[in-house]
Amino acid sequence: MNRLCATDDLTDVQRDILATVRTFVDEKIVPVATALEHADEYPTEIVEQMKQMGLFGLTIDESYGGIGESLLTYALVVEEISRGWMSVSGILNTHFIVAYLLAQHGTDEQKAKYLPRLATGELTGAFSMSEPALGSDVAAITTTATPTGDGDYSITGQKMWLTNGGTSSLVAVLVRTPEGSDRRHRNLTTFLLEKTPGFGDVAPGLRIPGKIEKMGYKGVDTTELLFDDYRIGADEILGGTPGRGFYQMMDGVEVGRVNVAARAVGVAHRAFELGTSYAKQRETFGKPIAAHQAVLFRIAEMGTKVEAAHQMVVRAARVKDAGERNDLEAGMAKYLASEYCRDVVEDSFRIHGGYGYAKEYEIERLYREAPMLLIGEGTADIQRMIIGRRLLED
Ligand SMILES: Cc1cc2nc3c(=O)[nH]c(=O)nc-3n(C[C@H](O)[C@H](O)[C@H](O)COP(=O)(O)OP(=O)(O)OC[C@H]3O[C@@H](n4cnc5c(N)ncnc54)[C@H](O)[C@@H]3O)c2cc1C
Repeated sequence: MNRLCATDDLTDVQRDILATVRTFVDEKIVPVATALEHADEYPTEIVEQMKQMGLFGLTIDESYGGIGESLLTYALVVEEISRGWMSVSGILNTHFIVAYLLAQHGTDEQKAKYLPRLATGELTGAFSMSEPALGSDVAAITTTATPTGDGDYSITGQKMWLTNGGTSSLVAVLVRTPEGSDRRHRNLTTFLLEKTPGFGDVAPGLRIPGKIEKMGYKGVDTTELLFDDYRIGADEILGGTPGRGFYQMMDGVEVGRVNVAARAVGVAHRAFELGTSYAKQRETFGKPIAAHQAVLFRIAEMGTKVEAAHQMVVRAARVKDAGERNDLEAGMAKYLASEYCRDVVEDSFRIHGGYGYAKEYEIERLYREAPMLLIGEGTADIQRMIIGRRLLED
């Protein structure tokens, strides 16, 4: 272990959780991650162990069977897991957002119905805003839920890019409902959709065609979700009232940004570890390459970026945990951490010389994973829009 990514003022409980997760990552994730990723295989055993460890209920209140920990604890756990394999944190991240949405915006009945099962991992979550024609412009959603007159809604349309789309059993899905205002973000509604995990026709009117083939971030499934007159009860509207979906999802994405930033720190930290250990053992011109100043300076820059990004994540999480608005801090953390992650992975790749291009070396996997962080939970351009507007507001 190196001295990067230390966090001041943690409680004993937080330190214990992190030490347990770090050991789990080193012993159970790092040794198998690259092989599973190359095979694009879902890490079933790792996921089952994480359920046993209580990680699916890490932030869920104790009254619902969770551990009741803070966003900061969650973010630090995500850093550790992503250091092992980013896809494993992806499995946890959308689950965490669904649990957060329920805790913040769900009715008492919805919380009682879903949170205990989410806490044990009996249910696993996915969340769905994007469609084939939109990602950044969420308010342009066209998938529509129409009241059927008997208390149900009929959903028709196509959603895109669902992380855990096939493997999950509870999807928070944002669709357009006719009620409310004619302003386009004011008639969006979040439905809680419970389904059988799997692919194909999973329910009448609901189809999950299969996994989208991706450049990296393999193992975790990313899917479409096709609705054709899919029936769902009005009691599955998050919070019970239609028209609040846009604000609920934006709240969810805000904590999502902290966890994407944390993922970026984890991936960058691993790239740093791989780069430094390679630089110490590879020799050219009679000395370890770390002794060449060009490589030494790369290492200095990589370490500085990992540390700076980590501190931004900690700050963004702590602001939210204090009950304050953190869109600025979360946007800055996500923007900076994902850009730095790309830089650090690139530097580590260069340190590896030709071997960085070989699949046998872990950096090859990280090189394909890092770009995803520039896109998920809002692209870098969208973060810059949020940051700029908030700074002007102040
Ligand atoms: C692997 C993966 C997993 C994903 N998982 C999920 C998930 O679980 N749930 C979900 O809902 N979505 C998910 N997404 C979708 C993701 O959130 C979107 O891809 C992302 O928000 C970008 O949207 P887009 O792809 O439609 O790009 P677009 O919005 O079409 O943007 C294209 C380009 O234009 C730029 N741009 C757009 N608008 C502006 C503007 N106003 N100003 C300046 N530049 C702009 C963007 O920065 C980008 O460079 C996932 C995506 C991927 C790749």
